[in-house]
Amino acid sequence: MSDVNTGSSPRRHQVVVIGSGFGGLFGAKALRDADVDVTMIARTTHHLFQPLLYQVATGILSEGEIAPPTREVLSRQANATVLLGDVQSIDLEARTVTHQVLGRQSVTPYDSLLVAAGAGQSYFGNDQFAEFAPGMKSIDDALELRGRIFGAFELAENLAAKGENVDHLLTFVVVGAGPTGVEMAGQIAELAHRTLKRDFRFINTHEARVILLDAAPQVLPPFGAKLGAKTKKTLEKLGVEVQLGAMVVDVDERGLVVQDKDGTQRRIEAVTKMWAAGVQASPLSKTLAEQSGASLDRAGRIGVNPDLTLPGYPEVFVVGDMIALNNLPGVAQVAIQGAKYASREIKGRLKGKAPQEPFKYFDKGSMATISRFDAVAMVGKLRITGLIAWLMWLGVHLVYLTGFKNQVTALLHWTVTFLSNDRSERVATEQQIFARAALQRLPGGASELVSAPGSGNDRRAELEAIAAEESRLTDSGERGRVSDRTA
Ligand SMILES: Cc1cc2nc3c(=O)[nH]c(=O)nc-3n(C[C@H](O)[C@H](O)[C@H](O)COP(=O)(O)OP(=O)(O)OC[C@H]3O[C@@H](n4cnc5c(N)ncnc54)[C@H](O)[C@@H]3O)c2cc1C
Repeated sequence: MSDVNTGSSPRRHQVVVIGSGFGGLFGAKALRDADVDVTMIARTTHHLFQPLLYQVATGILSEGEIAPPTREVLSRQANATVLLGDVQSIDLEARTVTHQVLGRQSVTPYDSLLVAAGAGQSYFGNDQFAEFAPGMKSIDDALELRGRIFGAFELAENLAAKGENVDHLLTFVVVGAGPTGVEMAGQIAELAHRTLKRDFRFINTHEARVILLDAAPQVLPPFGAKLGAKTKKTLEKLGVEVQLGAMVVDVDERGLVVQDKDGTQRRIEAVTKMWAAGVQASPLSKTLAEQSGASLDRAGRIGVNPDLTLPGYPEVFVVGDMIALNNLPGVAQVAIQGAKYASREIKGRLKGKAPQEPFKYFDKGSMATISRFDAVAMVGKLRITGLIAWLMWLGVHLVYLTGFKNQVTALLHWTVTFLSNDRSERVATEQQIFARAALQRLPGGASELVSAPGSGNDRRAELEAIAAEESRLTDSGERGRVSDRTA
């Protein structure tokens, strides 16, 4: 086992946590009472409650309600520091993490490392689809989709007012019939068929088509055949067209091409598409695998030891969506329980305790909403559907939302949406739809829009002179005074 700083040296044991998602945040919190310094490095300033992203995309919740600032969440934890940074590399021999923000690079050393960088969307080798069919993994994704969905209705109203065809604007395609796809399709259908039905004059939003596509033969495969069939039926009652055995082979700005099981290809004209079809572990898995020799599976998940450590590197723990261990699912509880286990191990080592038993996941059940008042849930051998499952979904999501403030405002928004059918978060701006694509077209991304590290001193003198002149004009009363001089 590697050396562990036991606290007798002047420098405390340094724990670096990568990621502020479920694994990162719960791991850092579990170290609250430990004699360590915790540095959390994440590429966003918030902790994201991904299971409710679809509600941000469809105007039910605001982004702040599902993404509290990590800094605020950890503000009372004296041993925790939060750093914004995109981790580029991990040097397992030197025990350092290299991260950067807007071109500024930093290196942070560690004694113990908890890697919880999660997973991104997988387009199965067709990353070019992403521009036309955003995934559902981040606040940017959800806001972009919100802009695209509400924007499509606006454009349709404009064209319909001129008597033009709007079918391509009023067709919404969700790719992937897992929990996210089902929730998204159900919500777009409710939006079109209920929420927006009185808001437009030239289009009938009730005629909007919502298509849920999947190459697999059933909806919600992880929930089993019975719940899958029940979900399909409920979606169809809501007005969602469920097309199974349908593989997407091309996506462009105006639509997509689908190949059916018999090999025939057909095109669906749809401006608004969303991708919920696959996941790919963080590229940090590859970095770790290359240095440690650990295995990677097809989704890029890294093989870890039964105690969640990286083979050959007992001071490095990897948890959550990044790992391949005993076919564990990519769900929040796997990340939370794994992170708590890793934190317990770090604390135990510092106290000289024997290692814990291998990590064992306790499955608390899974659930997915289909529409308001209707959900499906699996708890142990129990299969629950309808209103009871929906109430369970409501309770669980409320309890797990981070922060009392967010729980109260989310409950208020849910009351508005579920009882009156209105939605409070319908703001859609051009930025939401186009800014990300514009940034991606800059070779250096956002860092091209700021000065290089260390520059800016020339500008300082100029800014100071402008401020001094502004202040002088106010103090001397010269503002607005008519000059004596003639032009
Ligand atoms: C739309 C959606 C709905 C879901 N619904 C459910 C559900 O209903 N129930 C359920 O149990 N699970 C659900 N999940 C899955 C669940 O959210 C994940 O299993 C869980 O978030 C995994 O936790 P994690 O800590 O491994 O990763 P994440 O929570 O994804 O956190 C990863 C963190 O790492 C950061 N990061 C990534 N790369 C870097 C880098 N290079 N440098 C710095 N930081 C980095 C990210 O910014 C993020 O903070 C859903 C997921 C999605 C996307």
